[in-house]
Amino acid sequence: MAQERDFSEAFPQSLELTDDDSILQIVWDDGHTSRLRLDALRAACSCAVCQGHHPSQSLNLKPEQFPDMRIADIAPVGRYAYHIVWSDGHDTGIYTLKMLREMESSA
Ligand SMILES: [Zn+2]
Repeated sequence: MAQERDFSEAFPQSLELTDDDSILQIVWDDGHTSRLRLDALRAACSCAVCQGHHPSQSLNLKPEQFPDMRIADIAPVGRYAYHIVWSDGHDTGIYTLKMLREMESSA
């Protein structure tokens, strides 16, 4: 398993909900800005409920399934991830910095 922070040493400087709370905007300390649609972020949840323990168990979530998705709570997990609680009650998602950084800006 790869180390959690081997991708770069970039760290979020600020997190902000923009565009009527539909976009999570992350400004990284290396100057990069990520703008992530919440529906895409919700669909990308890597927890065992959403992805299963085997690819055949994956729910194959699509952003279209999550219109008007909102973040109910977001909290850092150490210095490597964020725990996001969604407005649909889903609260087992851990989003690593690597995953957030590598997600395509979708807006
Ligand atoms: Zn999940």
